[in-house]
Amino acid sequence: MNKFLKKMLFLLACSVGVAMAQPVVVYSARNEQLIKPLFDLYTQETGVKVQFITGSEGPLLARLRAEGKSTPADVLLTVDAGNLWQAANEGLLRPINSASLQANVPAHLRDPGNAWFGLSVRARTLVYNTQRVKPAELSTYEYLAQPQWRGRLCLRTSKKVYNQSLVAMLIAEHGEAKAEDIVKGWVANLAAPVFADDTKAMEAVASGQCDVTLVNTYYFGRLQAKSPQLPIAIFWPNQNVANKQAGVHVNISGAGVTTHAKNPAGGQKLIEWLASAKAQSLFADSNLEYPVNPSVKPAAAVAAWGNFKHNDINVKEAGSRQAQAVKLMDRARYN
Ligand code: FE
Repeated sequence: MNKFLKKMLFLLACSVGVAMAQPVVVYSARNEQLIKPLFDLYTQETGVKVQFITGSEGPLLARLRAEGKSTPADVLLTVDAGNLWQAANEGLLRPINSASLQANVPAHLRDPGNAWFGLSVRARTLVYNTQRVKPAELSTYEYLAQPQWRGRLCLRTSKKVYNQSLVAMLIAEHGEAKAEDIVKGWVANLAAPVFADDTKAMEAVASGQCDVTLVNTYYFGRLQAKSPQLPIAIFWPNQNVANKQAGVHVNISGAGVTTHAKNPAGGQKLIEWLASAKAQSLFADSNLEYPVNPSVKPAAAVAAWGNFKHNDINVKEAGSRQAQAVKLMDRARYN
């Protein structure tokens, strides 16, 4: 074989190799320690490299927006349906048609327009002091607004998207007027000024400063692992309500393919793999969350908190009603 032919064959082999294994570029608000093991496994299984940057959701969205058509990102991976809805609403995500995602992600945990899909579930639920409250005294989110709870409730700040999403979902469920009454009732029942994060709110419950708070389950899991002696426990509210949609308010971490992806097919394949039974345990367990895929069981530490029914209003409401929720919380003087 002459030199020229050899060189041509070599170049051809390279280009085929590149075409087969075009990398997928991910912008991730989920931190490196949670996603890198998954991406490494994906590369090991498929030969496809995953390049990623991590950052907070605000700056990542701003970057995607500013880069426009020239963005290298194929996939946006972030927490809270409010953020995913925002990205889709700004046209930064493209709808993807995927039978496997439709099958593996329950309908209330994905965009009805298919621009994003939940990959793990976190519940925003009640945590109470086991020495001061009997579980039988607890029932619903709404009940925490009643005068029985005066001076007994602690809450994280309303500036955090998790609480904005929770209130947005309450508006979706009850309408604005009733949701406002509930939030005003919570504020009237506060035992202390709002807390900067979920963990501090739980520590206040554990120390007896208040009796009950509202937090994401994985923060409870982390605190429980660190300080198992604390007198706190999880309660699943709204489990016996006539309204069939009622249940524990859940949110997601999830992903979508960007509008200007250079490798949209590769991005879609990666998201499909993340929702598959194979990857779901690793995805959810690393952050003490629940798999979205109903065929996959949560980690033992998470399963120990017991089963519960979701509120199955679509989590997109967390985004579409976020501005309304922020104004409502402002009126209710929820800081
Ligand atoms: Fe968080």
